[in-house]
Amino acid sequence: MTIGLPLQAPSPSGLIWRITRNEDAASDAERAEILQSPGFGVHFTDHMVDLCWSDKGGWHRPRVSPYGPIQLDPAAAVLHYSQEIFEGLKAYRHADGSVWTFRPDRNAARLQRSARRLALPELPTELFIESLKQLLAVDSAWVPSNAEESLYLRPFMFAKEAFLGVRAAKKVAYYLIASPAGPYFPTGVAPVSIWLSTNYARAGHGGTGAAKTGGNYASSLLPQAEAYEKGCQQVLFLDGEYIEELGGMNVVLVTRDGRLITPESDSILEGITLASILELAKDRGLTVEQRKLSINEWREGAASGEIIGAFACGTAAVVVPIGKLMAEDFEIVHEGPESTELAMSLREELTDIQYGRREDTHGWLVRLDA
Ligand SMILES: *Cc1c(COP(=O)(O)O)cnc(C)c1O
Repeated sequence: MTIGLPLQAPSPSGLIWRITRNEDAASDAERAEILQSPGFGVHFTDHMVDLCWSDKGGWHRPRVSPYGPIQLDPAAAVLHYSQEIFEGLKAYRHADGSVWTFRPDRNAARLQRSARRLALPELPTELFIESLKQLLAVDSAWVPSNAEESLYLRPFMFAKEAFLGVRAAKKVAYYLIASPAGPYFPTGVAPVSIWLSTNYARAGHGGTGAAKTGGNYASSLLPQAEAYEKGCQQVLFLDGEYIEELGGMNVVLVTRDGRLITPESDSILEGITLASILELAKDRGLTVEQRKLSINEWREGAASGEIIGAFACGTAAVVVPIGKLMAEDFEIVHEGPESTELAMSLREELTDIQYGRREDTHGWLVRLDA
C-alpha cells in the first residue's frame, strides 16, 4: 500500500512533493547492523527522490518513493548514447545529532555545468537542495554517527526518452539515492601508489573531461585495471606531457617552501574538495599555484628535493597522500613524515569543519534535517 501525502506545502520551489513511505523499510535493528560496517556504495537507504523533465513541461512531479528498480524503455537514449551526468556529496552527523552537508550550492552549479555540456536540462540550485532535504526528511536515521562515517548522496540525471535518433532527449529523469559510507581508510590514512597511464587519455580538449559524466569513468576502467596489475590503486592521466588528474580525484604537489601546485586544464573536473583545500591553504598564508604542470616538473622537482610530497583529493576519500608514482620507465617516491604532513593537516582541518568539530568560518555547511 502506498500513501500519498504532501510532506510540506508549498515547498521553497513551489512544487508539491508526493511522499510515498516505504512499507518495507529496514527495521531499526537491520539498519543498525548495516551502519556497524557500511562499506562504500553497497547499501542504500529506504527511499529515493525523482523528478521528471520534459521539453514542454520543464521540471515536474517531484517524488520521494521507496528505493527500488527503475523501469526504463529498452530504447531509452541513455542506454545507447550515454547522455548522463551525476554528482557526489555527503551528509555528516554532528555531535548534537544534527545533519549537515558541505557546499551543496557548488554541487548544484557543477551539475548545471555538466548538464549544459551533455545537452541535458539544468536543475535549479533550489530544487537540487530541496531534493537533498526531502530525502533526509525520511532517511536521516541512515546518517551514521561514528567518526569519519557519512551518508554518501548520489544525485544523477539521464536521458529517458525512448528514441534511437541521435539528438538531445526531450524526456529526462533526475534521481537522488543515498548510501551509508564507512571510513575510506578503515585502518587509518595511508599513502597510495599511482600508475601513470601513457597509452590512454581520460579526456581531450573540447571533450567532456570537465563534466561529471559516466562516460569519463567508463573510459578510465581499462587503464584502472592496468594500474591494479602494476600493484597501484589509482591511475594518473596526462594531456601530452601535462598532468591532468586521477580517474576520480584531483592532484596537488607540495613544495619544500610550502607552496601547493595543482594543474590547470579545461579537461579537468573542478573538484569541490580541491577548491576547499586550496582556500584553507590560502587562509594559512600558503601560496597556491594553479597552472600547467608537466610530469617532468614533478620528476625533476622530486629529484632535486624541491617537491616533497603529493596528494589526491575528492569527496569520497577527502585527501590521500601519494607515496609513489610508477611509470613504464621511472618512479617518483615521496616518503617520510614531511611528505604527508601538510596533506594530513589540511585533511584534518577540512573534516573537522565537515563534522562540526571546528568553526565553519566560510559558511560552507548547510543543515539538511531542519
Ligand atoms: C568528482 C570528481 C572529482 C572530485 O570532485 P569533488 O567535488 O572534490 O568530489 C575529481 N575528478 C573527477 C574526474 C571527478 O569525477
